[in-house]
Amino acid sequence: KKNVLIIGAGGVAQVVAHKCAQNNDLLGDIHIASRTVSKCDAIIASVHEKSAMKVDGVLQGHALDALDVDATSALIRDTGSQIVINVGSPFVNMSVLDACIATGAAYIDTAIHEEPGKICETPPWYGNYEWKKREICAEKGITAILGAGFDPGVVNAYARYAIDTFMDTVTAIDIVDINAGSHGKYFATNFDPEINFREFTGTVYSWQSGAWQENEMFEVGHDWDLPVVGTQRAYLSGHDEVHSLSANYPDADVRFWMGFGAHYINVFTVLKNLGLLSEQPVTTAEGLEVVPLKVVKACLPDPASLAPNYTGKTCIGDFVKGIKNGQPVEVFVYNVADHAEAYAEVGSQGISYTAGVPPVAAALLVADGTWDANAMKNMEELPPAPFLTQLDRLGLPTRVKDENGDRPWNA
Ligand code: NDP
Repeated sequence: KKNVLIIGAGGVAQVVAHKCAQNNDLLGDIHIASRTVSKCDAIIASVHEKSAMKVDGVLQGHALDALDVDATSALIRDTGSQIVINVGSPFVNMSVLDACIATGAAYIDTAIHEEPGKICETPPWYGNYEWKKREICAEKGITAILGAGFDPGVVNAYARYAIDTFMDTVTAIDIVDINAGSHGKYFATNFDPEINFREFTGTVYSWQSGAWQENEMFEVGHDWDLPVVGTQRAYLSGHDEVHSLSANYPDADVRFWMGFGAHYINVFTVLKNLGLLSEQPVTTAEGLEVVPLKVVKACLPDPASLAPNYTGKTCIGDFVKGIKNGQPVEVFVYNVADHAEAYAEVGSQGISYTAGVPPVAAALLVADGTWDANAMKNMEELPPAPFLTQLDRLGLPTRVKDENGDRPWNA
């Protein structure tokens, strides 16, 4: 058994806490630390409300500034935590990782590090911060699992699984992320608007023909024919996993596609063109200095408030193309998740659910030794089968679709 410290108390942390509680017989004590301790307490109350703790055990909240490495290290030691699941805002990644390196705890996160004030990171994404710590993790035997959410995360494991199982060589990995759900608001982002918009304001980078290619956001669209959610338009977007997958499979084209409706694109474009998505401060006529993006965030619905009325499904998966015995092969590895089911189970919408379940699956594999790599790893560098098995058990089943039909991955 290994005690777990969850960093952050937002939408994803809520799911992580519920899933850790449901599996506390395999994990141990569960601690939640965030800047605002009342948010930790609210998550703890929701876990008890659902009677989610599998066995009697510790579930405790703590106030923490996770940018403070010493304070974070002290909390890891005080709570006897051997696994840290970092689902705080991506600004805290490097300080939390440093605290894990200092204490020997295993580190798991779901997004690349970002520096406040930068619009968004450019390739090589992991090379900018995380991979600079690879050597010290290896030296000290620290397990650090990077990008263990759904995308990045599960989609990396899907790619590895598809390549290992169905092909001799891989030629293309197209990751498609569709939220076909509806929250009923005029406009809202599914998670922190500041982080969400950052993904779409910069240049779109993809890996094609063995090199980084640059496009504008919403420049390249493609209609994908998908199970359950039907034909959906998605746009070439930048995403963390394009970097690690292209480093591990440099001969394959690696692209990330995110689904957007015309209404979202319209509102986003207006906000952007007006300068309202800028993180650079402006001064009003009254002499008030404001950051437009922060004002937009304050006006938009709190992403967590969308959960109770969210309906519909998400479909996220990988179209992987390659060659097997000299013949071209193509397979779609995917998951479909349901917003209302997620809310009924853990009180969160489907986007938080798909992001929060996978890091708990990873933690369970670290706890039982299967993924305790004593080194820094991206998800496609770890054996996928035990992970997909855990995801099946935890509520995110994997399916495979190809010319032989549409079936569970392990059928
Ligand atoms: P939220 O914004 O809802 O929550 C972030 C939490 O981090 C808040 O509780 C916030 O506290 C806390 N926090 C911020 N700064 C600090 C600090 N200095 N010290 C302690 N706590 C801090 O985010 P989400 O739950 O939506 O997302 C969490 C992470 O998951 C993000 O990194 C996001 O990019 C990632 N993600 C990954 C996905 C994937 O599939 N891979 C999908 C969706 C999200 P406070 O409330 O006080 O500000």
